[in-house]
Amino acid sequence: MAIDSNFDQNRERAGEENGVAVWGPVEPPEKLGIHGTHVAVDYDICLADGACLENCPVDVFTWVDTPDHPVSEKKVEPTNEDQCIDCMLCVDICPVDAIDVDASRQA
Ligand code: SF4
Repeated sequence: MAIDSNFDQNRERAGEENGVAVWGPVEPPEKLGIHGTHVAVDYDICLADGACLENCPVDVFTWVDTPDHPVSEKKVEPTNEDQCIDCMLCVDICPVDAIDVDASRQA
């Protein structure tokens, strides 16, 4: 299952972590929601492949620990989403379609 590209309409904003919005539902440690707005990562799909973080030309992503999450115990946070240049590399490279990028969505 891929990230819902209409999450900003279909989900409630549940708060903020590491400077980015979190879209619920959030029920840790199993459900962690979607992190980010312009650059959004579905934490419940992300399996910590890391290709997005290693290849983003402007270093948008940082690792965060997510102990006891059933898919992976770390995730990529779009910490620097305001620097995104919309190259779409991360969207294309993610093996599980956990990332959506849309410049019309602003935090
Ligand atoms: S779209 Fe490009 S610049 Fe933006 S976060 Fe993804 S890889 Fe980085």
